[in-house]
Amino acid sequence: MTGPHDAILAVRNLVKDYGPVRAVRGISFDVPRDCCFGLLGPNGAGKTTTVEIIEGVTPLTSGEVLYEGKAAGTRFRQDSGVQFQTAALQDFITVRETLEMFHRLYRRRANLEQVISDCALDKLQKRDNRKLSGGQRQRLLLGIALVNDPKILFLDEPTTGMDPQARRNFWELVERIRARRKTIVLTTHYMEEAQALCDEIVIMNEGEIVTQGAPEQLLKAHYKEIILELPESDLAEIPPEFPFLSYRRNGLVEIHTGDANEAITRLSRAGAPLGRLNIRPYRLEDLFLDLTGKELRS
Ligand code: ATP
Repeated sequence: MTGPHDAILAVRNLVKDYGPVRAVRGISFDVPRDCCFGLLGPNGAGKTTTVEIIEGVTPLTSGEVLYEGKAAGTRFRQDSGVQFQTAALQDFITVRETLEMFHRLYRRRANLEQVISDCALDKLQKRDNRKLSGGQRQRLLLGIALVNDPKILFLDEPTTGMDPQARRNFWELVERIRARRKTIVLTTHYMEEAQALCDEIVIMNEGEIVTQGAPEQLLKAHYKEIILELPESDLAEIPPEFPFLSYRRNGLVEIHTGDANEAITRLSRAGAPLGRLNIRPYRLEDLFLDLTGKELRS
């Protein structure tokens, strides 16, 4: 039996109070099977609380979590894998020994060689855990989350602290794992990451869901316009009554317009140099900012 729309996981009216603080305010959503599902929100939105309740680490105040249509219990725990951000790795043992140690704990086990290869750990097998870089350590933690061949995998801020190249490499691993028909629940601060990986997202703010759906559809539904970006210094001469909605952030002026030709003509007539003009579609980051009023990266 599965839930509605073949949801592998369904969250219903979830509430969490920490004493007088209501951290999660009655949220409901479905996680479709075999998809990469993103839970996004600014600091304090309630993402970690929600994921920890689903994982069974934190008790809920009210509501329910259904796994394949039934209350999440032992079977869910057997079927799930969690990449913990802060897991302590044992010193003085190698990457391979670490994976073998966790592998032995489960009745259902993944093919260890495949996990090693999927997580790009082949060349690190004999490396002592203490000698791993941040990105390598994250790959090992991912490997540990996969040793029981989970159907559903939880990744909590998996690329925080990685440089852009390591982050992109990690995305490739996630794609590879996903191709093995696993459902992935991802929390992230990086909108670019969510846009690259997620088929479905929920954006939370102050314990509530502000929007949910497929990223491309959400963008299409919210925006009919495109964005022209120019360095602020190139627009120094433009009169303030320039007739397009514009925002200034990060040293850039953004002109939001449904008519790029018209906007460019006007800019040109106003004498603005256009050599550094950038035309771009709306991104999840724009939607996030519009819906929550908060910058994501902290
Ligand atoms: P971040 O991106 O900063 O991790 P988050 O979206 O994961 O944020 P949560 O960590 O779930 O948010 O926190 C939601 C709210 O609950 C915050 O106001 C936080 O201060 C509060 N909170 C979280 N854990 C506890 C706790 N153990 N006791 C009391 N309040 C808590």
